[in-house]
Amino acid sequence: MHWSKRQVTVHSGIVKVNGIKEYHPYLTEDNQHDQALVGVNLERLVDVAAMRSPSAILVESDNGNDYKSAQHFFDVQRICNKVRVPIIRAYGTPEHCKHEVDHVGGVAKMVLRRAVASGEFFEDVGAMVEFLEGELEDKEGLKYVVKEIDREESVARRNEASRSKYVTVQGTTSFRVMYFEPDKSSFKASNRICVCEMCTESYGSCSNFNEFYPQVISLKAPPRRPKDKPVEVSAETDVVEFLPPLSVVAVAPERKSNLPVWFMQIKSHIVADQEMSAEYGLVEAGQQVILAYHLEQHGENTTYMKL
Ligand SMILES: [Zn+2]
Repeated sequence: MHWSKRQVTVHSGIVKVNGIKEYHPYLTEDNQHDQALVGVNLERLVDVAAMRSPSAILVESDNGNDYKSAQHFFDVQRICNKVRVPIIRAYGTPEHCKHEVDHVGGVAKMVLRRAVASGEFFEDVGAMVEFLEGELEDKEGLKYVVKEIDREESVARRNEASRSKYVTVQGTTSFRVMYFEPDKSSFKASNRICVCEMCTESYGSCSNFNEFYPQVISLKAPPRRPKDKPVEVSAETDVVEFLPPLSVVAVAPERKSNLPVWFMQIKSHIVADQEMSAEYGLVEAGQQVILAYHLEQHGENTTYMKL
């Protein structure tokens, strides 16, 4: 492409207030289409709806994994706290919401591709946004609101999230609709969209809804990425080769565990000796013994961990 070798991600939404629709394609240089970027984009869209002071905001999407993760529920709650409006979060059938919203992104991409093909040069995402604004204004009688999402924003969110562990909310696979209220520590969810009398009065108040308490655990440091899995120590392994004394290693907890990441310092390697092992509480690893230092614990409570 002409503008640069970098890729640009387009994420689109539709904001509908009192039957009037706006199409919102958002462009960013951030190519990690993950929970962080989804959260930032969602916040922008909800901000637009919140400006009209509605009594509730309905956020509908397909039920992709990005929208069912524990982090997403925290994002929705955080946005709800900020805009001070209850959020009804619903998963539509893919046919229902996907076509039109895909179309919004499709139109934006098509316009850009055509422009590039006819020799238009875009220096950066800002220039693309400006171009789209001119091209899409009142296209097909619809209002397009093109925005650039600053890469720094989603990167900051990503870094922030990497220091937290979001505990999976059980039962999410059956969720169809959720109800979030500002400043609550729980949200309500149901496996079907309900418009019963009780829900018309106060949404989520009938017995179709259950309450869920999402949990987040702060980590002292980001967990290790899967590619740096802690080395497994087997009976035959000569530990000296890869863990020299005084090196510090991080041990990631099991995926489902609530435990934080541990940092351990290798104090020494000594040849296993039954008596010594017992005396120091050392853990045997075949021919070698690793004396590992558990640094994460708060206070005085220091324990030795087997690697
Ligand atoms: Zn109901």
